Amino acid sequence: MSQINTVYMDNNATTALTPKVTAAMQEVQGLPLNPSSIHASGRKARALVETARGKIAKFVNAGNARVVFTASGTESNNMALRGLSGYKILVSAIEHASVLKLGVQDGVVPATASGIVDIAGLERLLRQFPGEKFLVSVMLANNETGAIQPIKEIAELVHNHGGLVHTDAVQAAGKIKVDMQDLGADIITISAHKFGGPLGAAALIFGKHVPLHALISGGGQEQGFRAGTLNVPAIHGFGVATAEALSAGDLKTISAIRNKIESEIKRIASDAVVFCKDAARLPNTSMIAMPGVPSETQVMHFDMAGIAVSAGSACSSGKVETSHVLLAMGVDYETAKCAIRVSLGKNNTMDDADKFVSAWKELYERAAISKAA
Ligand code: PLP
Repeated sequence: MSQINTVYMDNNATTALTPKVTAAMQEVQGLPLNPSSIHASGRKARALVETARGKIAKFVNAGNARVVFTASGTESNNMALRGLSGYKILVSAIEHASVLKLGVQDGVVPATASGIVDIAGLERLLRQFPGEKFLVSVMLANNETGAIQPIKEIAELVHNHGGLVHTDAVQAAGKIKVDMQDLGADIITISAHKFGGPLGAAALIFGKHVPLHALISGGGQEQGFRAGTLNVPAIHGFGVATAEALSAGDLKTISAIRNKIESEIKRIASDAVVFCKDAARLPNTSMIAMPGVPSETQVMHFDMAGIAVSAGSACSSGKVETSHVLLAMGVDYETAKCAIRVSLGKNNTMDDADKFVSAWKELYERAAISKAA
């Protein structure tokens, strides 16, 4: 097994399982758990799944909305956008690839320079679809910059035009409060592995008024909305993880570490750029450009120093692509290709911040010397 970074600052990519989630999953891993079976083992499986479902509904204050388990946030987003027949689909320019790359959109809502969806642009777009059925998909918090989107305002606007709202809350869940009813969202996506839960468990949560149909058909599981035998240990871990979301205390510490990193970097290099600094952001996320040094070089440099960070977006091949989020904000290409994302978690300390800043400074100074040579 290859070595693991000693300082992990890539929590928006995935998080470690919390000890409570690990213990809970270990207890049921290995048991024959098919919730569709009517014998005692099957009933135990069903009870685990329904308990998790209840916890997840409560976690996002879903009221009487349906909670359908899927295998990933990507699958949930696919279902939200592909599972509505006869609807026009509008998405924001800063969405995750699992929304943007489906090729189903009839319009793209622009973003402002501060990384927030442009409400005036959305309003203009809505006027182009009079009398049509439509869905607007805007994420609750951006995975690269951390910028929190005004979903409540968007939902009001979209509902006034007769449309439905989907919000991809994958990055928000567990870091800030996600209250589906307060937000007014009709459909939301969450994924367990972004907040201490396991890979392979996610949910699509939608009001009973939303005419979604299944993308995966077969055995009729999940009330016909998603066929396939459920991954019971992962779903159980998902439910347990809802109680493990970052506490107010964790968030205070994490944002203090993040603020220290940002202020130290600006002190070292006035030409460094911290994106979306003036927007409401997730407390754990920072996207920073080191001018003249490609993201990939930076990620490798930090890796050698034992620190895990990421370029804004990496496709599955591991190849780094220039952030479409920064480009949508109007950031110039040269700056955008020098951005990395730092995403902190419960286990980070001020000492980690010092290590990060010192590695950042080393690379910055080395780049300055080679520029001068
Ligand atoms: N949506 C956002 C905003 C994400 O950041 C991610 C993952 O990075 C996803 C969706 C996809 O989630 P999953 O990894 O569970 O497929």
